[in-house]
Amino acid sequence: MPNEEKLSGVLSEFARTMVTDFPIQRILDRLVERIVEILPITGAGVTLITPSAEPHYIAASDDSALLYEQLQAEVGEGPCLLAYDSGEAVCVADLSEEGRFPAFTPRALDAGLRAVFTFPLRNGSSRLGALDLYREEPGPLEKDAMEAAQTLADVAAAYLLNAQARAELSETSARSHFSSLHDALTGLPNRVLLVELLEFALMRATKSDVLPAVLFADLDQFKSINDTYSHRIGDELLIAVAKRLGNLLRSSDVLGRLSGDEFVMVCEDLDDPSQVDVIAQRISSALGSPFELSCGLVDMTASVGIAVADHGESAEEILHRADMAMYQAKSKGRGRHQIIDVHEQAESERRTTLKFDLHTAVRNQELHVDYQPIVKTSDRRIIGFEALLRWTHPIYGPISPSVLIPLAEEAGLIGAVGAWVLAQACIDRRRWSAVDAAAPLGVSVNVSPHQLMEPDFVDSVKATLGCSTSGIDPALLTLEVTESVMIHDSARALLVLDDLKQLGVNLSLDDFGTGYSSLNYLDRFPADVLKIDQTFIGRLDQGHPSQAIVASIISLSRTLGMKVVAEGVETLEEHQFLSEIDCDACQGFYFAQPMPSNEIDLLIERPDASGAVLLPVSFTPSHRDQLGSTIKSAFCASLDTLIRPIES
Ligand code: C2E
Ligand code: MG
Ligand code: MG
Repeated sequence: MPNEEKLSGVLSEFARTMVTDFPIQRILDRLVERIVEILPITGAGVTLITPSAEPHYIAASDDSALLYEQLQAEVGEGPCLLAYDSGEAVCVADLSEEGRFPAFTPRALDAGLRAVFTFPLRNGSSRLGALDLYREEPGPLEKDAMEAAQTLADVAAAYLLNAQARAELSETSARSHFSSLHDALTGLPNRVLLVELLEFALMRATKSDVLPAVLFADLDQFKSINDTYSHRIGDELLIAVAKRLGNLLRSSDVLGRLSGDEFVMVCEDLDDPSQVDVIAQRISSALGSPFELSCGLVDMTASVGIAVADHGESAEEILHRADMAMYQAKSKGRGRHQIIDVHEQAESERRTTLKFDLHTAVRNQELHVDYQPIVKTSDRRIIGFEALLRWTHPIYGPISPSVLIPLAEEAGLIGAVGAWVLAQACIDRRRWSAVDAAAPLGVSVNVSPHQLMEPDFVDSVKATLGCSTSGIDPALLTLEVTESVMIHDSARALLVLDDLKQLGVNLSLDDFGTGYSSLNYLDRFPADVLKIDQTFIGRLDQGHPSQAIVASIISLSRTLGMKVVAEGVETLEEHQFLSEIDCDACQGFYFAQPMPSNEIDLLIERPDASGAVLLPVSFTPSHRDQLGSTIKSAFCASLDTLIRPIES
């Protein structure tokens, strides 16, 4: 007969503790521990049973009880299973006389068990398991004890149900937490988790000098795998790639899948940023061998972009940079990798913006043409102007033509931009015709090799020269072409140049001596003018070799029947030397900087008595800066006094 007080003590203890977070195993342990204290038994055990599964939970008050529990589970029969199946208590007061459990009974008797009383852990019409009370002496259990045992089994079952529901809930929420942070296909961290881990890495990096690097790998032509085979094969490939990339990871690295075929590796403890190069090569070789998929062997490469974090950068910013680097790598061909640093990134973004904005630059009147005078070396009379393109970007300010022209070529706009410059130069030149009848001034327009090679280039020049607003005498126009035009298809370049000559325009070989510089084509190049590049002129003060080179270029041009213009003349000494060796014309800051067309308007309005247009004496950069905004009025007022007398 159990002590009523003890039973109610156990029940109220269960009520107190088990409503809270008691886990299943602890409930079972407590049940068997307390029941041996209040009932006349030698041991107790409990097993939770899940149909067609191994028992998850077993508790026992001692080793013998554990052995009896395990024995029943092992042989698949015994009072525990019978109580579970029937839902009724099972009484075996003398095991030696028990015949229902032929596999269990003899082994249990051998182990010392004499009597067993089992109570189902009931859950409505089904059961969770059973509670076994063991005795090592035969004999029945009194009715009160039987009732108390069933009460405890029922109470425990209620708490177990509760605990089971809690466990399931927390398993589900753990599962959904995991799946919200992981990619379902590969099990790798997804973008959300990757960004979080990268932020942590950046935080750690603020305390050390080692900055993390991000490698952004994108499979080349992955779409064609999906299209050629199927999405199932595509998925197989992604899983295989994730596995191979995963094998490259060191303990501190993280690999994630951002989306589709984009994988990102965050490498934290790099001794030297150059190590990322090695890692990128490892990625390439890891993907180098074919993948064995269910459709057969499939080859795959990846393009990898790399960004090493900069101080103060956010995870999203680094990812963006690595993404951009990946695109650069891809544009160079398959299976490449590319590292870009912050400054390159800023420059590349600036170029992207500029390229985009160039489309609207003409319409927004951001482009204009400046003109730099070209003077006759002997008397400094202005013989013409070189048209130089200018772009004032609303955000970045003035953009040098050496940046602008390649951008226009990349954006496929060089034809349009070049045509605009040519038309503008011709329009301005038409306006000057009114005043320069006595000394016809030439206008030179630069033509880039890309522009020259465009199929309709000659026609567009012809159209401009024949147009009612921009039409001028072709003899006044000089097109400046650099030697590099001969690099790719010299035969076609020569044909175009000949066609241009047929139009009656002059051709000038610009920047001579810096580019292709093969004398091989010089006799076939139908140039009228050769412009010696400013690097040679800038070295004239160094004496013999440079002076000899310039003198030789001049005599070579004479032989070939070309006039010579020296570019970049900046000093009196340079001018004097060029006069001595009979260089035909000069252009440079010593005479004048490039200036807007309205200043040229003012300049040519004041020819001297012979009709020659001369430059003011101090038309040098510093003087122009001093004049600042008053340049026009000061320029007009002082023009007469500033005109440099012709050197005697
Ligand atoms: P370029 O045709 O050789 O033009 C001469 C360049 O030298 C100009 O630079 C001019 O400002 C600069 N310069 C003139 N005198 C001096 C001097 O005494 N010292 C120094 N240091 N520089 C001097 P800019 O305007 O920056 O143009 C650079 C290049 O951009 C041009 O070289 C030309 O190749 C190209 N470019 C300019 N406008 C156009 C254009 O409308 N179309 C094309 N295709 N190219 C253009
Ligand atoms: Mg030029
Ligand atoms: Mg030049």
